[in-house]
Amino acid sequence: MDFQEYQEKSRVTAKYPDVGDTFTYPTLGLVGEAGEVADKFKKHMRDNGIARPSQLSEEQKQELVKEFGDVLWYIAQLCSECSLSLADVAQMNIDKLYSRMDRGVLGGSGDNR
Ligand SMILES: [Mg+2]
Repeated sequence: MDFQEYQEKSRVTAKYPDVGDTFTYPTLGLVGEAGEVADKFKKHMRDNGIARPSQLSEEQKQELVKEFGDVLWYIAQLCSECSLSLADVAQMNIDKLYSRMDRGVLGGSGDNR
């Protein structure tokens, strides 16, 4: 599945207040789901002594897949709310990172390096 197909298919499932002209709900959802990802890793550290992804079982990875998907869903909705293409966002991000890599400025700070 490519990003455009994902954005279109996920949009059909977008049911929240003011859908079509809001960033509030999907932003809150994105932060919440990102928190769920962090919480999963935290609990693996606390309960299982897991500090590295290579230590995760396949079952644990599948639980993370669900949370990563939730994060992706909210990013896709934010793109749709802003009339942006998720595929374009992905491409622009890769272009930016490769440009930085080519110029030797992957490290450092500043949004417009
Ligand atoms: Mg979740």
